[in-house]
Amino acid sequence: MRYVSTRGAAPVLGFEDVLLAGLARDGGLYVPESWPQFSPDEIRALRGLPYAEIAVRVMLPFLGGAIAEDEFRAIVRDTYATFDHAAVTPLVQLDSRTWVLELFHGPTLAFKDVALQLLGRLFDHVLAKRGQRVTIVGATSGDTGSAAIEACRDRENVDIVILHPQGRTSAVQRRQMTTVLSSNVHNVALEGTFDDCQDLVKALFNDGAFRDRVGLSAVNSINWARIMAQIVYYFAAAVALGAPDRKVAFTVPTGNFGNVYAAYGARAMGLPIDRLVVGSNSNDILARFFASGSMVMAPVTPTLSPSMDIQISSNFERLLFDLLGRDGSAVQASMDRFRAEGRFAVTPDQLNAALVLFAGYRVDETQTMDIIRATATASGGYTLDPHTAVGVGAAAAALSDAGVVDDAAAMVVLSTAHPAKFPDAVEQATGRRPGLPPRLSDLFEREERLTVLPNDLAEVQSFVMGRSRAAGANA
Ligand SMILES: *Cc1c(COP(=O)(O)O)cnc(C)c1O
Repeated sequence: MRYVSTRGAAPVLGFEDVLLAGLARDGGLYVPESWPQFSPDEIRALRGLPYAEIAVRVMLPFLGGAIAEDEFRAIVRDTYATFDHAAVTPLVQLDSRTWVLELFHGPTLAFKDVALQLLGRLFDHVLAKRGQRVTIVGATSGDTGSAAIEACRDRENVDIVILHPQGRTSAVQRRQMTTVLSSNVHNVALEGTFDDCQDLVKALFNDGAFRDRVGLSAVNSINWARIMAQIVYYFAAAVALGAPDRKVAFTVPTGNFGNVYAAYGARAMGLPIDRLVVGSNSNDILARFFASGSMVMAPVTPTLSPSMDIQISSNFERLLFDLLGRDGSAVQASMDRFRAEGRFAVTPDQLNAALVLFAGYRVDETQTMDIIRATATASGGYTLDPHTAVGVGAAAAALSDAGVVDDAAAMVVLSTAHPAKFPDAVEQATGRRPGLPPRLSDLFEREERLTVLPNDLAEVQSFVMGRSRAAGANA
């Protein structure tokens, strides 16, 4: 299995190099040169298997022999043993044709764990084989830092430093990061804003000598292995509902387009997906694209579903690559225009090709609250977090739009966060504050460890240098 860049000007790489590289050298994103194919019989054979076994079968072709099957199976089993539900990603039925796929049973209660728990282990495995170490550095506004920390904690060959803006994350968010006391985990509370944190991380990456010295790396949402790990639950959910003998549609609360692109990949591999519904909050750049064929940047508005508050969906470039006939220079030209003018467009034919599979819907703040409330008071009341509520709203809109979803198809809404991660919105909607699940119920009694640093590049650089075991080895 070989991987090519969406911009066509970076080296073609194998799985291990793509894993460690993240972004391609030409600024593009890596995609498989061709998609592995699963026949209806091979899909049927996944029915009833444990999640980890489905995961091994679906992901193995992407490794191209880089990791032996037995070794990979051990890594995958270890990964999903950290989830606190036997099904890993269980389905819950909401009404006669709508199900919720709960992706939040991992250590940080958000769907990012499904991919990041595997990514951390894969990094460690490949680095050990190569005798290398890396230092992961990232900035967080609070939402995603903990998933990266949980992915890297206790890894032999990985150190992680996460910067968060001091006093500007919620107590739950901060504690999910700072109570991880593993010796390779380093939390920095920066005296500044989230933008300051991001600027400092960018500056670290731009210093070539520093980057090489500490083996600087990232686990961001464009890493191919994250997409690969997310393809698995589309197969698992679809076969549980009768695929390949029954069509299934999915609705995905979308931000960076990584999750829904994984569904696109599952369909390219042979899974009979009827429709992919992209749910957007008020930051609706994607819904506007599917309505018009134009991607037009707009300022970001903060919403109840902060993990979807985006201006640019970075993984959309992977779909664009296919819409433009896998022409890397055409993708480069669109991205250059997007950067310069804040917009690019596809032709009507290219848009129609996308609309064969995709549909986009926007769900605003009032609707989000109404959906949380209505779902909680419906018979068999069920508590949605605000991101999942956007998905449930988009799914309902798609189902009531004639011709969008096949009448015989089951609709699966991806639930991307546990309601206890967003207790204020849920309490406001339902009058009840959702409690933390058992694995986090003592979060407020746990010891915290963090270092407060000024908004100063030299200070942050020397902090990272002092904590990086890669730098120690390279000294
Ligand atoms: C990251 C995230 C999303 C968006 O997923 P993308 O893959 O970026 O589209 C949605 N909901 C939650 C809770 C998230 O953490």
